[in-house]
Amino acid sequence: MMNCKQATRLVSQSQDRELSLPERIRLRFHLLMCSGCSNYNKQMSFIRKAMQKLRER
Ligand SMILES: [Zn+2]
Repeated sequence: MMNCKQATRLVSQSQDRELSLPERIRLRFHLLMCSGCSNYNKQMSFIRKAMQKLRER
């Protein structure tokens, strides 16, 4: 089971690179169990989408 530090690191890495399948599975599993990291992941993907919209202009 990965801890919160590893999970948040993977979330931020996933902004820059494609995660491997085992990484994605472990991260998804952690996010299901942990509301803190789940919120962090939501915020990161929200920011990422906002940034992409800005870039489209
Ligand atoms: Zn966590």
